[in-house]
Amino acid sequence: MSDRTKQLQQLDRRYIWHPFTQMSEWEAEETIVIERGEGSWLIDTDGNRYLDGVASMWTNVHGHCRRELNEALKAQVERLEHSTLLGLAGEQSILLAEQLVAITPEGLDKVFYSDNGSTAVEVGVKMAFQYQQHRGATNKRKFITFKHAYHGDTLGAVSVGGIGLFHEVYRPLLFTTIQAPAPYCYRCEFNESDPATCGRLCVEELERLMAEAQHEVAGLIIEPLIQGAGGMIVHPAGFLKSVRELCYRYGILMIIDEVATGFGRTGSMFACQQEGVTPDIMALSKGITGGYLPLAATMTTREVYDAFLGQYRELKSFFHGHTFTGNPLACAVALASLELFRKDRLLENLQPKIEYLRERLKKMAELSHVGDARHCGMAAGIELVLDKESREAYPWEEKVGVQVCREARSHGLFLRPLGNIIVVFPPLVISIEELALLFDGVEAAIRAVTEG
Ligand SMILES: *Cc1c(COP(=O)(O)O)cnc(C)c1O
Repeated sequence: MSDRTKQLQQLDRRYIWHPFTQMSEWEAEETIVIERGEGSWLIDTDGNRYLDGVASMWTNVHGHCRRELNEALKAQVERLEHSTLLGLAGEQSILLAEQLVAITPEGLDKVFYSDNGSTAVEVGVKMAFQYQQHRGATNKRKFITFKHAYHGDTLGAVSVGGIGLFHEVYRPLLFTTIQAPAPYCYRCEFNESDPATCGRLCVEELERLMAEAQHEVAGLIIEPLIQGAGGMIVHPAGFLKSVRELCYRYGILMIIDEVATGFGRTGSMFACQQEGVTPDIMALSKGITGGYLPLAATMTTREVYDAFLGQYRELKSFFHGHTFTGNPLACAVALASLELFRKDRLLENLQPKIEYLRERLKKMAELSHVGDARHCGMAAGIELVLDKESREAYPWEEKVGVQVCREARSHGLFLRPLGNIIVVFPPLVISIEELALLFDGVEAAIRAVTEG
């Protein structure tokens, strides 16, 4: 290790508080300091290369340091780095909004910008709430949420989340919601072994909750097709569509959180398109700039938007806004990213990769400590279990997932698990050869830790 790397590590320990990290462990460990990127690879200060198995926290689409995106960014920075949307319109944010409206489901006609997934969700929640108030449905104040849901880490986003372990401590600061069961078929709470039945029972329970509480529910929020941070929980086909129908029937606004799934991850541009579903509100972020810059959008219908129109003194404005909303650099890169989707025929070229991933997961499922290997498009989760027969989980304190990911580093991979679930979520640009390397490494690491 070079002196420069050692020095940077020391400074990191001294000054940086890392997210979702027990810093006492971090300080005791050797850390990788990333300096460069190239395609699906990250390169550290000593020149070691790591395949970016989690697309730099689920954001990267076209690869690191992609020439076309770099050029778009450089061109924009020579013209304008930032101007505000509070009181001014901006060229790049207008052009991007036009394209977002064109590629999202029909009916989502308005774009509200912010800069990360949590704020995109907060905006959606506030919008749905205020919409109901303006309509005179003043009792509609609650939200239906799902078990295992993850919508971000700010307080409103945590309130609508459903992951107990790391959010419980903040409970006194949160608003309460009505929590519906999610079809986590591998660990079905109804003890059903078949996903279709598990899904149906979840829908029945959701309908019961809606029927009971419809007069006080403003909206429902859901991750479409796959719950990401909750453990790459893949929902049975038709579940999202059933939820959409129930929301219509009970007059509940449907917020779809496409922060992780949007921009190709599930094999279609947006996950909800696979079930022909149009939400009332949609949250976008992670992949929107191809993984380059923080940007988010909350999209909604003309109907929701119109409910906020009125005289100034009626105080019907949407009282929300972030300083860097609609940042021109981020919007310019997002536009260039959408251009690359077309030029590279990205969605078309993704299909054989998804097929390959599916085959590798099938093999992976045969390992003696892999309970379930599931995926939705290019988002996969490999659930490690102590006992395959009984599906008994590894105690979370053992950090089996962390051990596997650490082992994977010696195979040139960077991975980050979700508890006992190994996440495979590579840049969409990854080649089949690189995917093969990735799966070889993951398999070897799982074997070394669970069988070794
Ligand atoms: C990551 C994520 C968020 C939060 O996004 P941030 O940019 O980290 O605030 C919200 N919803 C989903 C589904 C996510 O995966």
